[in-house]
Amino acid sequence: DNAQPKKPEWIRVKAPTSEGYRETHKIMRDHGLVTVCEEAGCPNVGECWSQGHATMMIMGDICTRGCSFCNIATGRPDALDVFEPGRVADAVQKLGLNHVVITSVDRDDLEDGGAEHFAQTIRAVRHRSPTTTIEILTPDFLKCDPSVLEAVVAAKPDVFNHNLETVPGQYPTVRPGARYFHSLRLLQRVKEIDPTIFTKSGIMVGLGETNEQVRQVMDDMRAADVDFLTIGQYLQPTPKHHAVDRFVTPEEFAAYEKAAWAKNFLMVSATPLTRSSYHAGDDFARLREN
Ligand code: SF4
Ligand code: SF4
Repeated sequence: DNAQPKKPEWIRVKAPTSEGYRETHKIMRDHGLVTVCEEAGCPNVGECWSQGHATMMIMGDICTRGCSFCNIATGRPDALDVFEPGRVADAVQKLGLNHVVITSVDRDDLEDGGAEHFAQTIRAVRHRSPTTTIEILTPDFLKCDPSVLEAVVAAKPDVFNHNLETVPGQYPTVRPGARYFHSLRLLQRVKEIDPTIFTKSGIMVGLGETNEQVRQVMDDMRAADVDFLTIGQYLQPTPKHHAVDRFVTPEEFAAYEKAAWAKNFLMVSATPLTRSSYHAGDDFARLREN
């Protein structure tokens, strides 16, 4: 029996119906772009898309990994589309974004893991929308030569995000293809290569971790000089995915947030509906004003 805890009333979201939602939807379709908002069935899609905030997913919609929390199809991806960076840049311009989040599937089939494609996408967006701040959410480049990271960093994203996703003890069941300390080291290296880039990471809770372990991850992130932290509730995309172990209460989230500020993160978002791209632009704009 894998009975799931009942979804609490604080996980409630509005149906996507606004004019802005439809407009965002149309721009994504017209540009042939995949969004993680749709692929992951994100609960915030109504709110984000009504403001044009869509997180674009580059390098296709088939991933070479199969993380147990993730709804994206696993398999053999298509060849890279050389016109995709241009289409992303065009869509960002049409949406008139102040801040864009660009992510991708994992591409263990490519020698550079897609690092150069990421760099090209950053440059294309920068060229067309020079004032738009760019946040990337990358895979771990685990199978690549460590130098591939330099190509991505050299394209100067404003925020480099790579999610640790969960506590180390849960990796074998949650992120079987990944290594906790490799991901942590990746974040640290970004900062070493270019200290002017903000680094960001996040985890989901409700996968079987303890609050003590969550605090340890925060310490590990700070030790790797990670600037921004996100923590959100894991929701099971389908019954085949990793079970929800618990629904963390809003009070517990508030306690995570308080603990994280005390550890000197520059930006913290920890609520049940926090996703790594949720309100990313607002938070970043606020940080730059201060
Ligand atoms: Fe998309 Fe992120 Fe908003 Fe979810 S939180 S709808 S993934 S931009
Ligand atoms: Fe999903 Fe990313 Fe894992 Fe691929 S690597 S299955 S896209 S979470």
